[in-house]
Amino acid sequence: MTTIIDGQVVARATKERAAALVARVKDAGVDPGLAVVLVGDDPASLSYVRMKERDCADVGIRSFDHRLPADTTQDALDALIDACNADSSVHGILLQLPLPSHLDEESALARISAAKDVDGLHPENLGRLVRGLPGPRACTPWGVMAMLDHYGIDVSGKRAVVIGRSSIVGKPQALMLLERNATVTICHSRTVDLPAVCREADVIVAAVGRAKMVTREYVRPGAVVIDVGINRTEDGLVGDVDFADVSPVASAITPVPGGVGPMTRAMLVMNTALAAARVAGVEEA
Ligand code: NAP
Repeated sequence: MTTIIDGQVVARATKERAAALVARVKDAGVDPGLAVVLVGDDPASLSYVRMKERDCADVGIRSFDHRLPADTTQDALDALIDACNADSSVHGILLQLPLPSHLDEESALARISAAKDVDGLHPENLGRLVRGLPGPRACTPWGVMAMLDHYGIDVSGKRAVVIGRSSIVGKPQALMLLERNATVTICHSRTVDLPAVCREADVIVAAVGRAKMVTREYVRPGAVVIDVGINRTEDGLVGDVDFADVSPVASAITPVPGGVGPMTRAMLVMNTALAAARVAGVEEA
């Protein structure tokens, strides 16, 4: 019997934990706030930003909206980030990606104060993950770990294969699995015989961006399969995993939609609550 890992359920539980933490932070005299920076008017980004602001409101986090026109200069974006860094009512800064191509994403992300980097993408925070130090974690891979925890899936000593090596998902995912004592292989577009490498895995995390690439041929019977992919196709939103083909052989699998997606937003909320808690001197219970 295959377990369908329900991201909505785990996201709800995560947001309840965040709400409890926010309440304790408020009791300590700090009102958690998130600055949301959106450059341009891409409809998908706009809808993501609205959902993130709604998530924050659900748990009692204020959001401060900053909309900049698509032709914003790097100087103007830098000035806004500096102002948010200096503003003590802002505990987290969300810079919605992607930025218009004339802007330098790397330098903007690095300009955000590491303590307010609730996306967990600042070089210092990725470095803290490498060093095993606490700090904001990259939301999507951290959300995957929360799902595994919620379903009691212990990766210690297990073989994990992460497909994809981006700084947003693949690399931090591999480090988080390693932190939990999995034996981790990172695959990418130059990996030779990817299906054979994946068949070695007890846990597969697919973060590729290729619709339904991972078929049954990649999966050892009984493996856990986590699908990070979001691909818009003529058939609607699909993952990197061919769910219908793989789910009968996996022991547990995430669907798309309703899997990792809701977790990314829940972890953003949790990172913001934790950033405010650090300022208030409140520890997560
Ligand atoms: P990315 O930066 O484009 O990275 C994709 C990775 O996949 C790269 O490392 C690439 O290898 C590898 N790859 C591409 N084709 C491959 C192939 N045929 N075989 C093996 N590896 C291959 O993408 P990303 O930002 O990590 O995102 C990956 C997917 O996750 C996308 O569908 C994205 O929409 C989704 N995503 C979802 C969430 C969520 O909240 N659920 C969050 C973030 C991203 P090279 O490095 O060699 O090019």
